[in-house]
Amino acid sequence: MGREIENIIEILNFYKALGFRELPQSFIHSLFKTNSHILFSEPRENTKNEILSIDFLNEKIKNCKKCPLSLSRKNVVCGEGNTNAKLMFVGEAPGVDEDIQGRPFVGEAGKLLTRLIEKMGFVRKDVYITNTVKCHPPRNREPFENEISECFDYLKKEIEIVSPQVIISLGKVATYALMGMNGKLRDLHISKIRGKVFFYNQIPVVPTFHPAYLLRNRKDKWLTWEDAQEALRRLK
Ligand code: SF4
Repeated sequence: MGREIENIIEILNFYKALGFRELPQSFIHSLFKTNSHILFSEPRENTKNEILSIDFLNEKIKNCKKCPLSLSRKNVVCGEGNTNAKLMFVGEAPGVDEDIQGRPFVGEAGKLLTRLIEKMGFVRKDVYITNTVKCHPPRNREPFENEISECFDYLKKEIEIVSPQVIISLGKVATYALMGMNGKLRDLHISKIRGKVFFYNQIPVVPTFHPAYLLRNRKDKWLTWEDAQEALRRLK
């Protein structure tokens, strides 16, 4: 099979995975563009730029009603930051402030995360920040396993697009999702797993405490700093 046909199949599968029943007009037009080699001849680079655009994905997320959290949310909270970031942070779910503002990590926990990012030598716009589930669970409860699995496809696509060198998973839920521990959320204790690095699609994932936990347990901040240093060592 020719490489170009394989690429078309790959692209069609992507739209199918995102739940599209019809192809977007932009894609159909791009098929007939005279410079279609831009789309096909260098698949990895141009697939990233032309097809797997974060705007396109976010549009899909904003209209998502795949799980019951869509009924209680005020705003969908998509990831934000540098879509070519070397470093990506994955949290649990939007909190009350994030739900109101429609942005990730903007409350007190977000301020703590921003301080950590700056201590690591970056500013927020250098890195990419997202959550495992994109809608606020009522009463700030932990997302259920079915909500995590419904939403995971979006996180998967964000990681594909950003293609970071290192991921820091903030807390139990993000770590659970990235480890693919289906059905074992209750068994995961972040205090036991932090300090070890695992891989998601060959990307090192450094698990650490969620900033909301650190607000309540300030003595564990130094452990998170140790984890952050491990992540820095793994950046090229
Ligand atoms: S949490 Fe995720 S899967 Fe559920 S409605 Fe929101 S975006 Fe969709």
